[in-house]
Amino acid sequence: MKKNLNISILPGDGIGKEISQEAMKIINWASKKFDLSIKLKEEYVGGVSIDIFGTPLSEETLKRIKQSDAIILGAVGGPKWENLEFEKRPERGLLKIRKELDLFANLRPAFVFDPLLDASSLKPEIIKGLDILIIRELTSGIYFGEPRGIKKIDKNNFKGFNTLSYTTFEIERIANIAFDTAMKRSKKLCSIDKANVLEATELWREVVNKTSKKYPEVEVSHMYVDNAAMQLVRNPKQFDVIVTTNMFGDILSDCASMLTGSLGMLPSASLGFSKNGKQKAMYEPVHGSAPDIAGKGISNPLAMILSVAMMFKYTFENQSLYELINKAVNSVLSKGYRTKDISSKGTQPVSTFEMGDLVLKELSNEKI
Ligand code: NAD
Repeated sequence: MKKNLNISILPGDGIGKEISQEAMKIINWASKKFDLSIKLKEEYVGGVSIDIFGTPLSEETLKRIKQSDAIILGAVGGPKWENLEFEKRPERGLLKIRKELDLFANLRPAFVFDPLLDASSLKPEIIKGLDILIIRELTSGIYFGEPRGIKKIDKNNFKGFNTLSYTTFEIERIANIAFDTAMKRSKKLCSIDKANVLEATELWREVVNKTSKKYPEVEVSHMYVDNAAMQLVRNPKQFDVIVTTNMFGDILSDCASMLTGSLGMLPSASLGFSKNGKQKAMYEPVHGSAPDIAGKGISNPLAMILSVAMMFKYTFENQSLYELINKAVNSVLSKGYRTKDISSKGTQPVSTFEMGDLVLKELSNEKI
């Protein structure tokens, strides 16, 4: 296991601040317990950074976080900054980190904890044992393509436009990550595109097929995104590893979150590699800053805590600590503790802070 790593923690806005407190509890516990000497430094991103520095991500912050070994991010955004011009909005800070660090591979696992079978809107038999991994391309596609903008055509008529583009290089590198991951799991990979109508994804399919030649053991299939959305709800267990474009991955992983019971349960890791081969990584929950519940202390910190677990797996290369945190979350849920988003009628939910403490207590009771 790696030690002496520098971690930047960027709570951001809304519930990002609340759940980051709970992430820090777990990181500090692990650092002490395993003598990891983790150096945690808090930084600003999003709306809070706009309020302090006038920009969603200052150059100084970017420089510092680029030097850290991993980034933990809460969430950004909120109604206060919604009317700012596009380039100045909180979300641009997050997109800038992803782009500047070239974090092109976004890993979004969706697995169902048995005690939460009844929290999903789907029948238990459809989701019991579900364990899928969505790999989303994160630094290209329609969210980054140029040209983009809103242009005036005449007096009352405007044109909004974005560009969906992918290069062979961009597809190949995400496909390699997906095939490598599939090799470590069930050797099954489904690539999702819209190759029947979008040329950029016709190329996507071609390159995935070409890459598959290097991985003869992996069974590769292709699916159009509209069918995939339907299949994800109809029979999600047919999937194991999914690889897809930036926008399709964004949408499908939110859909997958509801299979697991709540958006508050879905962690993610965004990975990239510097020129010298050193891994760069950012870990964050899939959800946003949830302004509707911010400041109430009722948000679910588990997606964030599970993102911390992913950090121990991918950055610290410690699979057992990853499993330990997942096991602690499962134990807390088995004992019936729930935050409001996953609680059923008639049960008394616990607060964000209490949920963090409960996970910590389980971890502290482990005989390691
Ligand atoms: P959201 O994910 O913030 O919230 C959607 C719904 O899920 C809300 O009802 C919210 O209360 C609930 N929810 C989300 N996380 C939860 C948690 N941990 N516990 C309990 N309930 C939870 O999405 P939104 O409402 O579309 O966006 C709100 C803001 O967040 C916007 O400004 C948006 O741009 C931003 N956003 C940021 C990120 C990010 O930082 N990665 C991602 C998505 C949205």
